[in-house]
Amino acid sequence: MIIHIIMVRMPFVKEGRAVEKLLQLALELGFDHAARLDASCLRALPEVREMCASGRCRRYGESWSCPPACGTIEECETRMRAYTGGVLVQTTAHLEDDFDMEGMNRAQELHKKRFFDLARQARLLCSDVLPLTAGSCTICRACTYPNKPCRFPHKMLSSMEAYGLLVSEVCNLAGLAYYYGPGTLTYSACILTKEG
Ligand code: SF4
Repeated sequence: MIIHIIMVRMPFVKEGRAVEKLLQLALELGFDHAARLDASCLRALPEVREMCASGRCRRYGESWSCPPACGTIEECETRMRAYTGGVLVQTTAHLEDDFDMEGMNRAQELHKKRFFDLARQARLLCSDVLPLTAGSCTICRACTYPNKPCRFPHKMLSSMEAYGLLVSEVCNLAGLAYYYGPGTLTYSACILTKEG
């Protein structure tokens, strides 16, 4: 007997409910903090892009998700202008001390994993979203840039900084703290949506 499996795509959630659903999903995925974000207030700052260009994180010119491949600061700002709402999510780690590199790396990995899941679900829930993560895209062990096209253009994640966002300012806009006190380290990421 031949069994035919028909894949049925879930309908996108109704306008006005996506942000609510994303906040609920964020908490289910284990994020420590999540809040609504007014995307219409976001500013792409050339100073942040200059920090990328200074090579501090060593990803500038090394990934399709990072500058210059992700577009000029003006192009990133124009892309963000298409969105009016969204969510900001955070993972906060409690470190043993200022040199707890293991704790820092663990928190970053956890945050990236949670955000990858949230971005995947957001893309299924909404017809159009812009997820912006913390740090460069790490979906592939080694990015194909610049020799071959991106392997997963529909999953690729650029960072908030690559889009010129000052993370502390975005946290402030969403009503969340950027810093949760001594001994803590917080990673932030956001998903921009077409609804407020
Ligand atoms: S999905 Fe892979 S190839 Fe594309 S930007 Fe990310 S790491 Fe690079």
